Amino acid sequence: MSSVPRRPKFPLSLDAVVERKPAPARTAGMAAVGGARGAAMAAKSRAAKAPATPTPAASAVQARASAATAGGGGMASERARGALAARLVAAGIRDERVLDAIATIPRHLFVEPGLSSQAYEDAALPIGHQQTISKPSVVARMIELLREGLGADEPLERVLEIGTGCGYQAAVLSLVAREVFSIERIRPLHEQAKANLRPLRVPNLRLHYGDGMLGLPQAAPFSSIILAAAGMEVPQALLEQLAIGGRLIAPVAVAPSAGGPGQTVTQQLLLIERRNRHRFHRTALEAVFFVPLKSGTI
Ligand code: SAH
Repeated sequence: MSSVPRRPKFPLSLDAVVERKPAPARTAGMAAVGGARGAAMAAKSRAAKAPATPTPAASAVQARASAATAGGGGMASERARGALAARLVAAGIRDERVLDAIATIPRHLFVEPGLSSQAYEDAALPIGHQQTISKPSVVARMIELLREGLGADEPLERVLEIGTGCGYQAAVLSLVAREVFSIERIRPLHEQAKANLRPLRVPNLRLHYGDGMLGLPQAAPFSSIILAAAGMEVPQALLEQLAIGGRLIAPVAVAPSAGGPGQTVTQQLLLIERRNRHRFHRTALEAVFFVPLKSGTI
């Protein structure tokens, strides 16, 4: 995953789309708090006032995250996480609970040691097997979309993530949700995620090895579903496993449209809200870049 252009210059050709919502102005509100310095101050004041009341599981993970980064580099990592959260505020992320989670999870534990100096940049990084750890601003944006309308004290209920990768987003989700299930189709990555998450001992997260396109029928329905890989469309099984009133967020391929310069956008975020048994409301959002959603396991 990488760039999220502010104003995608392309005709949105997703035919199922019934409503289009532009990406929020990424710098909205910054004038009021004074640019990047303001963002850092906002993040500081957030840290100063008591953060959103975490669930017991979340506070246990928070304590272990500090323990896991204590000793050499602990303070530096904490500062880097705070600075990353401040950057996300500058990029338009507003959900306190999501920002607290990003400021808590040590992202450097999820990348190989050679890349740890880049772990707190807002960038996707390689994790092997031609996959990436997602860009923090996109992780935050997607989770914020799932949480729309929830107060800082209200966790998401039952979340399904497709594409565990290294486990970073699953760890972030575990701090903002009551229960998280995450599926990965590449066995060595599934094993790597387990190893990465072990020191955090996240009690409300279950990792599964399998084809996420089939969902997890034994644990359905889910109040939220999040895809970390882009398909041509959202798999039917996942729509069926979404609870009524639930939300699904996914990157999906955009059919290339004819002619014109700047027609480079090939994926966009799609938010699907299930209104009743048969009605799914779709909103096409900003352009994104994710690794492909593939079927089967390896
Ligand atoms: N969630 C990750 C992002 C991982 S990249 C993070 O925390 O940054 C996306 C992952 O989706 C890859 O590991 C890829 O193997 C996985 N993936 C692709 N198709 C899948 C499928 N059908 N089922 C499960 N995982 C899938």
